[in-house]
Amino acid sequence: MGYKKPSFIESIAEKLGIIPDLHKEGYQEFDQDMRHFTDEQVAQLYDNFPPPEKWDNWVEYNPKVWPKKEKVTYQIVPTTCFNCESACGLTAFIDKETQEVKKFEGNPYHPGSRGRNCAKGPATINQLTDPDRILFPLKRKGKRGEGEWERVSWDEVLDTISARIRKAILENRHNEVAYHVGRPGHEKFMNWILQGWGIDGHNSHTNICSSGARFGYNLWYGYDRPSPDHAEAKFILLISAHLESGHYFNPHAQRIIEGKMKGAKLATMDPRLSNTASMSDYWMPSYPGTEAAVLLAMALYILQNKLYNRDYLENWTNWEEYLKARHADKAITFENYIASMIEEYKEYTPDFAEKESGVKAEMIVEIAQKIGEAGERFASHNWRAAGASNLGGWAVARTLHFLTVLVGAVGTKGGTSPNKWNKFAPTLPNPPKPQKQWNELHFPKEFPLAFFEMSQLLPHFLKEGRGKLDVYFSRVFNPVWTYPDGFTWMEMFMDESKFGLHAALTPTWNETAFHADFVLPMGLASERHDINSYATHGGTWVAFRQPVLREAARRNGKPVQLTYEVNPGEVWEEDEFFIELSWRIDPDGSMGIRKHFESPYRPGEKITIDEYYQYIFERVPGLPATAKKEGITELQYMQKYGAFEIESGESYKKNETLLTEAQLNGATVDADTNVVSKDGKAIGVMINGKAMVGFPTPSRKNEFYSQTMVDWKWPEYATPSYIKSHIHLDNLDKSKGEYVLVPTFRLPALIHTRSGNAKWLVEISNRNPIWMHPKDAANWGFKTGDLVKMNTDIGYFIDKVWVTQSMKPGVVACSHHIGRWRRPQDKTGNRWATNTVNIESNGKGGWKMNTISGIEPFESSDKDSKRIFWKDGGVHQNITHAVHPDPISGMHCWHQRVRIEKPGKDEHYGDIFVDTNKSHEVYKEWMKMTRPAPGPNGERRPIWFERAFRPDPSMFYLKDEKKKED
Ligand code: SF4
Repeated sequence: MGYKKPSFIESIAEKLGIIPDLHKEGYQEFDQDMRHFTDEQVAQLYDNFPPPEKWDNWVEYNPKVWPKKEKVTYQIVPTTCFNCESACGLTAFIDKETQEVKKFEGNPYHPGSRGRNCAKGPATINQLTDPDRILFPLKRKGKRGEGEWERVSWDEVLDTISARIRKAILENRHNEVAYHVGRPGHEKFMNWILQGWGIDGHNSHTNICSSGARFGYNLWYGYDRPSPDHAEAKFILLISAHLESGHYFNPHAQRIIEGKMKGAKLATMDPRLSNTASMSDYWMPSYPGTEAAVLLAMALYILQNKLYNRDYLENWTNWEEYLKARHADKAITFENYIASMIEEYKEYTPDFAEKESGVKAEMIVEIAQKIGEAGERFASHNWRAAGASNLGGWAVARTLHFLTVLVGAVGTKGGTSPNKWNKFAPTLPNPPKPQKQWNELHFPKEFPLAFFEMSQLLPHFLKEGRGKLDVYFSRVFNPVWTYPDGFTWMEMFMDESKFGLHAALTPTWNETAFHADFVLPMGLASERHDINSYATHGGTWVAFRQPVLREAARRNGKPVQLTYEVNPGEVWEEDEFFIELSWRIDPDGSMGIRKHFESPYRPGEKITIDEYYQYIFERVPGLPATAKKEGITELQYMQKYGAFEIESGESYKKNETLLTEAQLNGATVDADTNVVSKDGKAIGVMINGKAMVGFPTPSRKNEFYSQTMVDWKWPEYATPSYIKSHIHLDNLDKSKGEYVLVPTFRLPALIHTRSGNAKWLVEISNRNPIWMHPKDAANWGFKTGDLVKMNTDIGYFIDKVWVTQSMKPGVVACSHHIGRWRRPQDKTGNRWATNTVNIESNGKGGWKMNTISGIEPFESSDKDSKRIFWKDGGVHQNITHAVHPDPISGMHCWHQRVRIEKPGKDEHYGDIFVDTNKSHEVYKEWMKMTRPAPGPNGERRPIWFERAFRPDPSMFYLKDEKKKED
């Protein structure tokens, strides 16, 4: 085995050591010769990067005037990228003379990204210099949505909003205040703010993103995210659109490739030949929604062929509980456990899986064998993709983790850990208590198991009169465009009895901000404070997103008080904004709010942003000692380097951590389950006579059998299952032209709303045609560029066809990051990416959108705006999707049943129609599938389930709610 024969140049380069010798005997095999990148080797790759001691005075030639040699002196200030969740390190190069940011490069001192970025990182400079960006706070003039705005002061904004929130809280209308976030950040900061106000006001985008996968993982082991150790793996399996659907795109991508360079094999299950699939050793183009059937077939093979890890299964799964509940007639022996599982999954033969999915049985068997051989070094990931697309999509993560459990790869080197093992959690100053509120607009009774807020249903809840929102913040959040059913969002936004005051906190214009009362410009990556910590590998780090001009000013001896003083215009940041707002809600402290936002160092005074971060960084393990060695404070260390490595990669098998004597003092052990409890709470489990911490589930083990599912009325899914999707072939009528549309993939250079103001990114990707296999195209008589009408359950959109062999026959796909729009009356924004559209409503729920003009060159301070050569801004598809809430996980099921046809002669590219009455009907249909609370003991949600912004325990009981009302 080995790479293809090297070229002449490659041979020489390998011999001279310029590139690794990939053709060396055994290089590709897992033997003693595995190649490892030490930290030093990685650092060598960045030898040319300026060393930190020169970051205040770095001289380079100006590339723009080459071949003239003109020297520019820069200050280099680290921060982190804001263009996806990964928070890779960036360094801003600031012209020392003009104090302008000139470019961004990677930060080699960031342990997650190690100096590397994807295209979206350096493109941050485009966002900063975008001529259309919003520079000052704006208030609407005229009716909401009419498009007229006036500049106002931050003082007016703060006074108006704080007075309204204060009134709502004093009148016990806590649930009328909500903060709805698209791109989250600042770890725990909003818990501090919203719980400080005593409200259950957090809403997120997670139910249109990742909560399906989270639910599947959580059922198993009480953690909702995986942290695959790709670089150390022998076999990697991804259920994925491209490198993990953009999730941890660069940090994971580089480690997947690192793993492959050491010999790991990569398998990708995806109906589309995605970037990842094209780099894989195995591509499994499965029919959408059948992934769990394939994974169960692999599980059956591993069981039947004894490739499982007996010790792990015996010690770390709740098999005795399973046998007692499901096979009471059998003796409780490990052999009976294995035999029962084989019996339970006997129908999932490779042939059955092939019939369901279209993936060849031989390939399924080969991969299952390889997973078994990889054992503890099997890494896997499912995030969006199938988990976010199908009715029962959560079962994909559950069956994927089943494989991880079977081969004992949970939390191992080269395996897949719970994400919390590789993530830093900050300690906040003056922490508030959990709120004694439960907002049913976010967590309604119908979805007691929903892993995150039912945010996609908010407009329908408002429409049917379940409540109203008096003050609503949308934060880097654009539901009108990103969410399904955007016209229903628009209808509700236009109704002031539903949304009393809408403040859009956003760095850029977007389709939702057009319907706000205040548009408040917030800082981009290099203009705001934030802390980040993500599970990128088997290590733990914390990074500091900071406003780089503020830090440069500090270094230059000209410190500023508030960040907007150095940012362009009056662009601010959420941290300072919300601290100010909190003080104005409770100016004299009588509401008990202000005390949380007082300085921990200067009692009674307002906390400063430096104090907030100093307090947190003082408590980062290892940072105080490291900073002390340099003679600087913890905050100064983070301001200087931008990141700190807390732990470099030995956080494996944490479930085996022994309980301490202090923990065991007063604890009891359940004779039946071996669970160790103290003060009424499970704290560990006895394994082979030792008290270990285990996992945060009721059994403290991986739960193959979930009593929780039984207790909450879903006994049919007590064990890992295959659930037929809403778009399963049984549910489609091919004779009527019904197909499945996969709308969940993104183009790697784009990122939801925020790439519309990055010219380099839009130049690379600016169309979203319908991907169609040549066989399907031939059946329909389509060729590339032909118009196609995609009829959804609530309307249609008209797009163009792209005929490609990269699509599985019988399935079509469309990228969801294109089709941005603005109306003629709207402020100019994102002109690199937006079509100008006309929107008409018939006043009875019928909405039409058609394109007036595509993307056009424009005059601006940026000369490139006159050079725009692309015209086609794509088509907005999400707005034609109905809401499909999974009745268990709450996840929106993105895949669409579509009816494909050729458009009529008066129908044009970009035409869209939606009937919001139909969308409300579809909503009601899906609601019928739910099995509402209460569960056992009057609970509205299992107590052991995590919940974002977890309220006081008393709020978990419906009966307590009843008493309160009485
Ligand atoms: S992966 Fe790309 S977009 Fe995401 S944080 Fe890293 S550089 Fe930015």
